[in-house]
Amino acid sequence: MTPTHAVQEAVRAVSRQLPGGYAGKLLRVDLTSGRSWSVEWSPEEMRTYIGGVGLGAKILYEEVPPDVGWDHPDNRLVLATGPLAGLPVWGTGGLTVVTRGALTNGATSTQANGFFGANLKFSGYDAIVIQGQAPRWVYLSINDDTVELRNAASLVGKDTWETQDALSAELGVSGHQLSVYSIGPAGENLVRFAAIQGDYGHVASKNGCGAVMGKKKLKAVAIVRGTKAVTAADPRGLFQAADDIAHDLKTNPLAKSLYEYGTLPGVVNLSKLGVLPIKNYTTNVVPEGVDFSRWEAPKLRQGFDHRGHQCNACGMHHCHIQVIPSGPHKGERVDEPEYEGWSGAGWTIGLTDPVAVSWLNTRIDRACVDVNEFGWVVGWVMECVEKGYITKEQLGFELKWGDADGAYRLLRMITHRQGFGDLLAEGVKRAAEKLGGPARECAVYTLKGATPRGHDHRGRWDEMLDTCTASTGTLETGNPVFPQEMGQPARINIFDGDQVAKLVAGLLGRRHFEDSLGICIFTTRTTIQNICQALSAAAGWPYALEEAVRFGRRTAAILRAFNLRCGIGPDFEYPSPRYGSTPIDGPAKDQAVMKQWERMRELWYEGVGYDPKTGKPLPETLTQLGLDWLRRDLWGK
Ligand code: SF4
Repeated sequence: MTPTHAVQEAVRAVSRQLPGGYAGKLLRVDLTSGRSWSVEWSPEEMRTYIGGVGLGAKILYEEVPPDVGWDHPDNRLVLATGPLAGLPVWGTGGLTVVTRGALTNGATSTQANGFFGANLKFSGYDAIVIQGQAPRWVYLSINDDTVELRNAASLVGKDTWETQDALSAELGVSGHQLSVYSIGPAGENLVRFAAIQGDYGHVASKNGCGAVMGKKKLKAVAIVRGTKAVTAADPRGLFQAADDIAHDLKTNPLAKSLYEYGTLPGVVNLSKLGVLPIKNYTTNVVPEGVDFSRWEAPKLRQGFDHRGHQCNACGMHHCHIQVIPSGPHKGERVDEPEYEGWSGAGWTIGLTDPVAVSWLNTRIDRACVDVNEFGWVVGWVMECVEKGYITKEQLGFELKWGDADGAYRLLRMITHRQGFGDLLAEGVKRAAEKLGGPARECAVYTLKGATPRGHDHRGRWDEMLDTCTASTGTLETGNPVFPQEMGQPARINIFDGDQVAKLVAGLLGRRHFEDSLGICIFTTRTTIQNICQALSAAAGWPYALEEAVRFGRRTAAILRAFNLRCGIGPDFEYPSPRYGSTPIDGPAKDQAVMKQWERMRELWYEGVGYDPKTGKPLPETLTQLGLDWLRRDLWGK
């Protein structure tokens, strides 16, 4: 850039009164033509759509018409961060992926942490919007103002860690100076639950976003930490908000264990509630003979050599790299599993040895599929084999509950679409419906085509209702630390459908707000007020809770409108027979969610202001959310 251009750029930025925290530009990439360019977005748009899923939802709705399916070149892959990314608040390397996904063929919003968000911002962009399809495998390289599509032929077939190693060597940059988010072989082979993984262990995993990237023949996005400054409008206020958030996370009894151990305590805590899914929902009880004391959080951490693997500016004692301490893979470096990994690569498939689970979890991340969907697929196959619904001949080998080597064999078959793995690569719903009969009855999925996270939702109805009504194929609310902030009770009777439905409806939008800021979901386990303070100080807007809630609901309405246009409506808002079945043992024994399902849905629609017949947000709801343009689209008035 010449000095004259620099002055012109500075004048433009001042005249636009760019809020703090923003780079002010989106990077656009057309893989078909190989062209890339940047576009400014206005401060008004920033306030309305913030970033992350808010920005992604708007782009998806405006640019992906219904005849553009997940695998069409015109589908968009939005990699977005938000106004807190790169600022000194904990966990501000966040990335949100928005696209039309391969499992539901509807909207997707899925998050990963690490350094991508910060490095992108330091390169001068708030988001990357990718369209088209490359004629041959490429990767996107961003190094400050140099944006290039480069030949990725040598990367094809490599797993995600190998890809990051190879690009680190090729670009001569390593550690936190380089963020690489890539697809493994699963994405290359269009496995419908392929993910996008980066920074050695952070995964944007939901709704087959990795298959979208694979269809576009984009193997990786590599961002060298840029040199552009990101400043808060009120630095002193931002430090105060950051301190308040950190203090809360360290001291609040509801967040403290997350601060100390991340999601490790989930296994033991959730099993006490009957929410740990064991053997594909066939039981809720930890099998006899399993040494469950090994699953206490301190033991899970102390059972391995490990070192911290924190994300950008994060002070949580959370992410770690482990070394496998014993067994056939002794000495291998792995990523400490999240709760979802312990569950999906472990309990769901009857694997109860933490060492074996940790190893398998990293193989799943490296091949790059969603660990939850993998768990539901493999657990389903194991149950079907046990019951004779799938034969050894069909599968090609013997398989039993808890067989880590067998699960890994299935992972490779799925990843490369070999033999029976080709069917399984379609995900649980499609595979189960294809086999039909009693095999279908054993499968856990939503009628939209995705699967739940790693919980037994038959003991957590709020999450089942949220998963089935969500537009993105996965949880969209989640109970905040202080539901009272959003006018909801601190506690409810978890098996009272009316209370559950009102709670889920009342919390709609909260997570969309957080997922739009470029910040990790674990570092937002504080008050929403604190997060609003951080946003106000960063951007320079006076941002209050009410605006955050309205923003979240606006984003939810846009995503819902996108899905409705694609033909995904209320008829799909049901769990599969097994997903909605009644537990036969454990703490949730005999609690029958389906007896209350219709009433719950009805109350949920009422609570969020949507029409129960069509699923459309009501005209008055849209007007309240500042979405008159969407009102005209949906209702013609
Ligand atoms: S809490 Fe964990 S995942 Fe989140 S930003 Fe911190 S280290 Fe990363």
